[in-house]
Amino acid sequence: MTFPPSAAPLTDVERVLCVLAHPDDVDFGSAGTIATWVDAGIEVAYLLVTRGDAGGFDDTPREEMPVLREAEQRAAAAAVGVKQVDFLDGYRDGILEPTIGLRRDITAAIRRFRPDRVLTSSPLRRWERLAGPSHPDHLAAGEATTCAVYPDARNPFTFTDIGLEAWTVREIWYSGGPGPDHFVDVTDTFPRKLAALRAHASQTSHLDGFEEMLRERHAMVARAGGLPEGRLAEGYSVFSTG
Ligand SMILES: [Zn+2]
Repeated sequence: MTFPPSAAPLTDVERVLCVLAHPDDVDFGSAGTIATWVDAGIEVAYLLVTRGDAGGFDDTPREEMPVLREAEQRAAAAAVGVKQVDFLDGYRDGILEPTIGLRRDITAAIRRFRPDRVLTSSPLRRWERLAGPSHPDHLAAGEATTCAVYPDARNPFTFTDIGLEAWTVREIWYSGGPGPDHFVDVTDTFPRKLAALRAHASQTSHLDGFEEMLRERHAMVARAGGLPEGRLAEGYSVFSTG
């Protein structure tokens, strides 16, 4: 299963809400793009569904992990100029499901922030790269966010108990899915992306040759997108929600 071809992105975007399962997801997939949006004067906010309590690689006490990862995500957001970072309560890393409760919580965030565009992880699995992008929590966050964009947030008769006015998100961007065909040149913002990822020290500080690995991965995406040699890119599938 793949996505249909991407739509041409909106050109009048004022606010973008990024909804991801774990701290670091938004930075691995999209920090370079987000830095370009911030530079263009777009207001970007993050909504993290979990605090990444199942992450890490060392003997950091498990009860400290959520606090640590929340702080890391806030520092990473600051590295690309994002000020608003919210975390949902009640969801655990590793066992996320696209429940009605999660749709309701994401709907509340959408109705509060009123984004023109939502960025989330792909609800479609990449069979050729099962690890990483196709973590089941990512698929669940992408699915719940898609349902919150349509129909939940825009339907005034859904989740009326939230007490917020209905809001129509006009566009959705998926990261980490199969066959991305919209590419953002992140060569100029790559240093900020790297700084954001280094802020997630509990996830990245043990990786040897991290910058080189990251550069190579983004150069491959740029090549797939037909960008000139030497450029770096992030890839997406982009859809109008009309
Ligand atoms: Zn993740």
